[in-house]
Amino acid sequence: MAEAARVLIDGPSELVFSYGIPSGWAVKPGCRVRIPLRKGDSTGTVLSIESADDLKFKLRPIKELIDPKPLLTSGLLKLATWTSNYYGCPLEQVMRALLPEAVRQDQHSAKEQAVIAIATPPSAEELAAIERKAPRQYAILSLLGSSPDPLPLKELGGSGIRSSLKALIAAGHVVSQQQAVQRDPDKFETFVASQPLQPNPEQQAALETINDSIHRQETKPILLHGVTGSGKTEVYLQAAAHTLEEGRDVLILVPEIALTPQTVQRFKSRFADTKYGVAVLHSKLSQGERFDEWHRIRNGEARIVIGARSGIFAPLPKLGLIIVDEEHEHTYKQDQAPKYNGRDLSIVRSQIEKCTIVLGSATPSLESWHNVQTDRYHLINLKKRADHQSLPLIRVLDMRQESRKKFKEATFLSERLREGIQKRLDAKEQVILFLNRRGFARSLTCPTCGHVCECTHCSVPLTYHRKEERLICHICGHQRITPQQCPECHLKGIHLQGYGTEKVEEVLQKIFPKARIARLDADTARRKNAVRDTLKNYQSRKIDILLGTQMIAKGLDFPSVTLVGVLNADLSLHAPDFRAAERTFQLMTQVAGRAGRGDLDGEVIVQTFTPHAPSIQFARHHDFEGYAEQELEFRREFRYPPYTHAAVITSRSTHERRAEFTLQNVHQRLKADLPEAILLGEPLPSPLTKAHGQYRFQIMLRSHNARLLSSYMQEVLKRTPPPDDVHVILDMDALDFS
Ligand code: ADP
Ligand code: ZN
Repeated sequence: MAEAARVLIDGPSELVFSYGIPSGWAVKPGCRVRIPLRKGDSTGTVLSIESADDLKFKLRPIKELIDPKPLLTSGLLKLATWTSNYYGCPLEQVMRALLPEAVRQDQHSAKEQAVIAIATPPSAEELAAIERKAPRQYAILSLLGSSPDPLPLKELGGSGIRSSLKALIAAGHVVSQQQAVQRDPDKFETFVASQPLQPNPEQQAALETINDSIHRQETKPILLHGVTGSGKTEVYLQAAAHTLEEGRDVLILVPEIALTPQTVQRFKSRFADTKYGVAVLHSKLSQGERFDEWHRIRNGEARIVIGARSGIFAPLPKLGLIIVDEEHEHTYKQDQAPKYNGRDLSIVRSQIEKCTIVLGSATPSLESWHNVQTDRYHLINLKKRADHQSLPLIRVLDMRQESRKKFKEATFLSERLREGIQKRLDAKEQVILFLNRRGFARSLTCPTCGHVCECTHCSVPLTYHRKEERLICHICGHQRITPQQCPECHLKGIHLQGYGTEKVEEVLQKIFPKARIARLDADTARRKNAVRDTLKNYQSRKIDILLGTQMIAKGLDFPSVTLVGVLNADLSLHAPDFRAAERTFQLMTQVAGRAGRGDLDGEVIVQTFTPHAPSIQFARHHDFEGYAEQELEFRREFRYPPYTHAAVITSRSTHERRAEFTLQNVHQRLKADLPEAILLGEPLPSPLTKAHGQYRFQIMLRSHNARLLSSYMQEVLKRTPPPDDVHVILDMDALDFS
């Protein structure tokens, strides 16, 4: 029987063609192949194998089987197809997430390098002669002599030393060899093996349920709802160990690798002395490192993988357990095409691979909570902090009434919080201050005409950054020199309004001159290793006050933090988004969760102008269920997620009218045959009306039938191609409505 392979060609055109399989070749789905394309050739991935017997014409044959073993498992191919269908994006685009560039191009496969080793060392006289006559040869010999291992040619000076090396090889003093290289991104760090902790009764019960599910290969998702500090990570570690002992692999997704160094460290330490390798996938890997890590995973050398959202595509051959830590985090949603949600895909993958899936959080998403209530998910609770600490006391301070007169320059700091900080500094305890706004001040405002300096490309005020003496756009990065007078009415007196982390840092240093203060936000984190170093210094108590944006809200476990201050809880509350309250509740709870993790009790002070907002009050009482109940009522009434799936179609263009017109056109077509189960919104300017120089318009659609919603939108968009200068973007299960 003749066989043909359906091949997805690499590249943006989304081409799928069939090719003949030369007899005797073991071509399977997931294999990478070189195939003829038009007059040249190209590379691609085999999607499926079918019979070629009925074909009337002869197929061009595959030219080369690049890897003898399929690179992609059939499970991953299925996941890719699912992703492409559901999110309405080309399969090739998804494939780029599955097979990163580094893996597609085989030039990184040069896993060997030339190394130089000492063969017969020269005698003392010989050496003295070499030193006199050939200083370069002498330098090479002394370098090699002082190194315990052979040295890579590169480190000896590369091709520049070729003639000297030749002479040394000819004299028999050194040899050149090929040696495999392992580009281990963590090679400069050592991990001390850690032992499992004795689980407390709640953890024990959780582990029994999870291990049982792993053993029986159950796919009903498990929601692990554990308060901050309840020991969820310890549960993950022991469940992972159990999975490995059963001969299967473990995938752990975290919101952001750079911000969760402690989680990565705990996994690396726990499995440091075992035969199971740990691979960490993150965006900072070099092409070569990515290639190595990918193949270590594919070959079964690394059986534990930790990654951010794209880690869901890690090529683990025998998945037994997927863990999604902080499952409520919005960073699981990719903000560029393909706009998939790593958490949601992990559920799809668990069903494809028949493995256990655990979603963990102290503040589960309402989607997951709703799934528990409708019995689609299994719930496990960890209600107490591990090791008997109590949850911190949360005080809500009404900033409308707080006396702030004493420190005029510090309107952001209530007296209560100031005293709290002083007390901790005196007691040599640590403080975390949280403010979700970076920069020096919010904006430059003219008191006479009310003019606010805005970005010329985006419809947002520019933020003043003191260090650079610039106004910077937080959307597109556009920068401008700070004007001395109002650009509008030309009067002097234009001044800064509001405050950001940079300003707070400066003022704090004035109020607490002896305190060692560090700031972590998108600006300071730009320096390489800045996050890691700052957290390390904080951990070793070289820093007293850590000030930061949401970067410091989650995952950190520092036992000597006894005070957490939230400078302005209202910032996330007033976002134009139906999830604003949910986000505020999550942020409050997560930030508060950083306090009181050691032997000392923790206190949290929340400053707000809206002290009675339900999300703040429920967070104050550590009452997730109460919060979820009232929020779900609102969502049900207005048919918002989780009672529906929400999607957004956005048009963007530098021509305002054309962006608007295109979307109106799409809207009309959507309306024409609208299925009853779909709620169609009006085309409106996006809340962020302009970004990166492009005007934006959007339509929101909702339906309880996700499949129907997705396919209907795709079908309409397919027959409504936009003009060349307008982009139309589909975002299924959107989280960002700006
Ligand atoms: P979570 O991930 O739920 O916020 P962690 O896993 O970070 O909680 O645990 C909080 C702290 O409690 C950590 O310092 C951890 O080492 C400790 N811990 C967890 N489980 C136990 C246990 N069974 N016995 C003692 N300490 C524990
Ligand atoms: Zn801008």
